[in-house]
Amino acid sequence: MNYKTLTINTALPSKPRAKVMIIYTGGTFGMVHDSNGVLLPFDFSLILEHLPTLRNLFLEITVISFEDPIDSSNIEPAHWQMIGAMINEHYDRQDGFVVLHGTDTMAYTASALSFMLQNLSKPIVFTGAQLPISEPRSDARENLITALEIASARNGVKAMVPEVCIYFDYELIRGNRAKKVESMHFDAFESENYPSLAKAGVKIDYNEAVIQAGSESKLMLHSKFDTNVSILKLFPGINQDAVKSIIGNPTMKALIIETFGSGNAPSAPWFIRLLKESINQGLLILNISQCPGGMVIQGKYETSRALEEIGVISGVDMTLEAAVTKLMLLLGEYGGERARELINKPMAGEISNL
Ligand code: ASP
Repeated sequence: MNYKTLTINTALPSKPRAKVMIIYTGGTFGMVHDSNGVLLPFDFSLILEHLPTLRNLFLEITVISFEDPIDSSNIEPAHWQMIGAMINEHYDRQDGFVVLHGTDTMAYTASALSFMLQNLSKPIVFTGAQLPISEPRSDARENLITALEIASARNGVKAMVPEVCIYFDYELIRGNRAKKVESMHFDAFESENYPSLAKAGVKIDYNEAVIQAGSESKLMLHSKFDTNVSILKLFPGINQDAVKSIIGNPTMKALIIETFGSGNAPSAPWFIRLLKESINQGLLILNISQCPGGMVIQGKYETSRALEEIGVISGVDMTLEAAVTKLMLLLGEYGGERARELINKPMAGEISNL
């Protein structure tokens, strides 16, 4: 997997306000229709033709791009590693980063990066678009311009938002609290169980009280992932064969069970027994609710008490996207035992500290 550096002549101002790097990975944002009407990634070096106003931001903008920009449904941990390496390599020279990424899996990549980049003191702002920049009504222009503003915003001498976040449709949200909730309208993302970091109107209103403080320590990049993670989504009527087909996988090291409401599951003895046997054999089982708001409280109802008793770990109010990526990173970096200890401890603001 390769990347290329694109030179974009933004008529560099003699005194740029800040230096921002754009990392272009693909997605709808940069697509154009070919002669058959099929959407294909465009040549990002033509961005100024689509967005001449980039010149008026008084920023020094450098763009690096995936050699082959991709639809984000094809994103894998190798791409997270590549984005992490790009940020790490250029971190000292830049004031902030904007990552252009497809919306489909943006919440996963933003979550992964939030765990990979420890001791962050600069903004990493993900954005994309629901309509390609080549379309007259595209949301790409506003999303990119404001993401660049946020990536360069300062609060005194420090960065205003030293977090991995997603800017989309006039709202800035923490990356590891984000969920894609809409594929047709422009408001593609929602923040689960955490307030917005900022709202953009005539000016950008930052909610400073909920933005994490930047770190004074040196940036550290963690990038080992172990993908032996699975998800079991519960539904009324789920039967033993369905559960066994997932839980019986011998290479799996961690399983997320997507439960109902505040972390509830069927109390059927066969179900509890299957989970218990797997936990006894070393499987890490994490309880994440299917319900987008609220949190898992094991033991609140009879239907979650057994989960607590057999050693299922509560994922509290983490999103599924944060849980998957955090498990992969913890397993990859530290192995199963340590992952079990760390999975429900806050790492990057992804879980409420109860
Ligand atoms: N399929 C596209 C992607 O995620 C959708 C988008 O960018 O909005 O890459």
